[in-house]
Amino acid sequence: MADPISLSSRYILGLRVDDVTYEESVALCRRFVEWGGHHRIVTPNPEFVMLARRDRAFRDAINSSSLSIPDGIGLVYASRIFKLPLREHVQGTDLCELLAAQAAREGYRLFLLGAAEGVAGAAAARLAGRHPGLTVAGTYSGSPDPADDDNTVGAVRSAGRVDILLVAFGARAQEFWLARNLERSGAAVGIGVGGVLDYFSGRVRRAPLWVRRARFEWLYRLYKQPWRWRRQLSLYRFALTILLAAVTGDKAVLASTTILPAGRTRA
Ligand code: UDP
Repeated sequence: MADPISLSSRYILGLRVDDVTYEESVALCRRFVEWGGHHRIVTPNPEFVMLARRDRAFRDAINSSSLSIPDGIGLVYASRIFKLPLREHVQGTDLCELLAAQAAREGYRLFLLGAAEGVAGAAAARLAGRHPGLTVAGTYSGSPDPADDDNTVGAVRSAGRVDILLVAFGARAQEFWLARNLERSGAAVGIGVGGVLDYFSGRVRRAPLWVRRARFEWLYRLYKQPWRWRRQLSLYRFALTILLAAVTGDKAVLASTTILPAGRTRA
């Protein structure tokens, strides 16, 4: 069924990840826009999981989202090890491309927030070129600093109706920004997208398709941006924790449950 109402979710070391496909994620996004209200979509990977173990507020921001896609391949592997497999590896960058296509079809208005000066504008121009008819209501580099919230929210509001807001402030800062501000920004759907605007603008190249298909994009990123090694340590810690739990039979590491997406107002 490509248009789910309830979500089958995994809790991996306490962090919620939903068992959705690309098709279902796009369908859910349409539902969120139709339902009204304000819906946060988050894109966790193993780094999120390890961060959430130390940072309860971050964990709450993820677990209270309307949709939490399995963006990191490590989460999919972990779910398989514990025999509660997530069906698809749903990457934020590819989902955003599909949402842009949907926005062009349905007349949804996009706003691109975050990234370095000029990046969101360049991303908007390239997206519009790929998706004829797409309306980008506005772009703004902004800042994730709470002291700048009024200004950043004002920039989004001044664009008029916004159906989908992409927020690129980096992991944690963007999830907190959305938790604080999505509602008052007026946008129907807000997604924390990390480096997606850098990719869309063409300033940063994604791994070649064959590397992505081999599920080694994380390794390519390390090769291209070696200063990330410290951040990627959490990936190895995650793998170690999962493997240890698998060996010792600690099933509490991964739980499965069915939930209704937050903000659902009618069937
Ligand atoms: N960024 C920003 N303001 C900040 C910190 C980061 O706009 O204060 C942007 C940065 O320019 C980049 C994105 O946030 O476009 C984060 O990208 P990254 O690849 O680090 O994403 P992550 O790995 O955290 O998902």
